[in-house]
Amino acid sequence: MIENVLRAYFVWPTFPSISITGSACALDCLHCDKVYLKHMNPVNDPDALVQMCKTFQSKGARGVLLSGGCDRQGGLLGLDKMLPAIKRVHEMGLIIKLHTGMVASKARADDIVASGADLASHEFVGDVDTTHEIFGLDMGPEAYADTFRLLSEAGMPHITPHICVGLHYGKLKGEFKALQLLKEVAYPSTIAIIVFRPTKGTKLEDAHAPSAEDVGKVVAEAKRLFPDSKTILGAMRPRSSTRNDPNKDVRYAIEDAAFDAGIDGIEVPSQHILKRAANEGLKIKRIEAYGVLPLDYEDRVVTEWM
Ligand code: SF4
Repeated sequence: MIENVLRAYFVWPTFPSISITGSACALDCLHCDKVYLKHMNPVNDPDALVQMCKTFQSKGARGVLLSGGCDRQGGLLGLDKMLPAIKRVHEMGLIIKLHTGMVASKARADDIVASGADLASHEFVGDVDTTHEIFGLDMGPEAYADTFRLLSEAGMPHITPHICVGLHYGKLKGEFKALQLLKEVAYPSTIAIIVFRPTKGTKLEDAHAPSAEDVGKVVAEAKRLFPDSKTILGAMRPRSSTRNDPNKDVRYAIEDAAFDAGIDGIEVPSQHILKRAANEGLKIKRIEAYGVLPLDYEDRVVTEWM
């Protein structure tokens, strides 16, 4: 735990998410099936991206998440044409968290860094069966290692990978390997641990979420391998904001397991875990941003001691 503080992250309203591919994606990942693109603000061309960011900024946004669908090789669709617009957004002073997709060349990594994006995020999948079966990609963990190595060598300011617990039909498979490979190629400022959430409208909607115990094991391993990085529990996990939801207990169990394993921050934490942290003597810092926000960016966003 950094400085005896639990960081509580809330992205809304000052850190909105934008899909720079609209609803387009060439993949049909079993856990997503493009459903998650519908939760983002869609744009399809560079000028629309700049205009949308100006509008968000005029309403108080401090940063944006730029994400979108992928091509058949897992790269972010149409990124090349968007990079000049991303540079304009950077020059406006907004913090940019970019979901890069796969990066397969030095030229692409150099172009991403030159755009001024602050944070480079992408999953790191450590198992070839998962990349084949879940993502439909004809590649394995080495493609993720190459992505983060190329970004790191190009001088990306912040490498912020996502490790998804239980992506292989709810079972652990490749999460530890992903962390080991990551250590060989880059040093992340934050690792986001997310958790497979069976989602309505996808092919895995009837699958089981992983156990809270498995989440705790992966958080503990991330903390062991990267003691100087921040490790956070991402919003993508089984959770519900309704008091009567049957997932409520699962949500609490996952948060408790991550907390016990030493998590440094949680996106959209429940009141349950905030109370527990306070009872155990931690200070709680409310931060309006994604959990991968570097510590030295916190004075650029809205924060408050709770
Ligand atoms: S590439 Fe991304 S947006 Fe497309 S289906 Fe897979 S997870 Fe969803």
